Amino acid sequence: MSEREAVTAARPAAPAARSASSAPAGRAVVMDGAALARKVRHEVAARAAGFAARTGRRPGLAVVQVGEDRASSVYVSYKRKACQEAGIESFGHDLPAATAESQLLALIAELNRDERVDGILVQLPLPGGLSPDRIMDAIDPRKDVDGFHPVNFGLLAQKRPRLRPCTPYGVIRLAQEYGIALRGVKATVVGDSTIVGRPMAMELLLAEATVTVCHIATRDLRADVERAEVLVSAVGKAGLIRGDWIRPGAAVFDVGISWAANGKLCGDVEFERAAERAGWITPVPGGLGPMTIAMLLSNTIDAACARAGTS
Ligand code: NAD
Repeated sequence: MSEREAVTAARPAAPAARSASSAPAGRAVVMDGAALARKVRHEVAARAAGFAARTGRRPGLAVVQVGEDRASSVYVSYKRKACQEAGIESFGHDLPAATAESQLLALIAELNRDERVDGILVQLPLPGGLSPDRIMDAIDPRKDVDGFHPVNFGLLAQKRPRLRPCTPYGVIRLAQEYGIALRGVKATVVGDSTIVGRPMAMELLLAEATVTVCHIATRDLRADVERAEVLVSAVGKAGLIRGDWIRPGAAVFDVGISWAANGKLCGDVEFERAAERAGWITPVPGGLGPMTIAMLLSNTIDAACARAGTS
């Protein structure tokens, strides 16, 4: 049995994997993050309707943007629209780039107290002069729907997750959807940021994978990628992960977002060549981007239910 066949044989059959395997023989199943995100959002909408019926109010998410970073404005508008569609009330707070840290902290204190607000999201990056750590630390951990607060990170690290960082949680949901085994497999995470790489490593450990984390100081990235049965790359450098480094049959989750020389949006992984070797792969766009927003909504309804003491 070839290495690829062995990995394939080990993967549990999942209906979605079977239907997606109508891709040309020998090529990876392209994981449809947009489709799973729609499914999660429908589940959230049903739960939000139930929540409203039980409590007499809709779940609420406060979305705070400071400054006018163009990419952030696009992400924020997606999040607000997604809230509306899911029956979640969105409270927008757009502050000028010159906002003092004390003003932003005062707004967060107000949102922490506001009973209508179940989740607080402060869009990153923040303009220079504002400390993301101080801002994140100020959010009530029960309303920290991004999962960035040290309490929520600590709970995940201690194997008792509560509100989980959205992108890594989205990777786990996609793996479940496609029946990709995580327990006992060799997983490599490229990138060790506090918002993606590190919580991703914690999620994979929670799933009982054997985890290697690579970063800018890693000496032999290729070797760590080549041994990965599950690879998650979250760097933001187009073509960093060469297609011929991918282990045959591996599951490849590309979180990175950057622009190729031709101006097209792309991930960290050389998609075409990687798809010839991988068992599964996420596209960019259409992979983890939509899943991240879906998991934000899912966290918001979880936070609302936990605060209201309902299921
Ligand atoms: P970051 O800049 O905070 O971290 C980048 C990481 O990459 C660091 O750990 C750094 O050490 C590592 N790195 C840099 N060069 C490297 C190299 N040559 N070899 C190995 N490691 C290297 O970024 P982030 O906030 O974690 O985001 C990472 C990427 O993911 C970005 O492109 C971002 O836009 C994207 N992102 C996407 C989503 C989504 O929804 N799809 C969500 C969050 C972030």
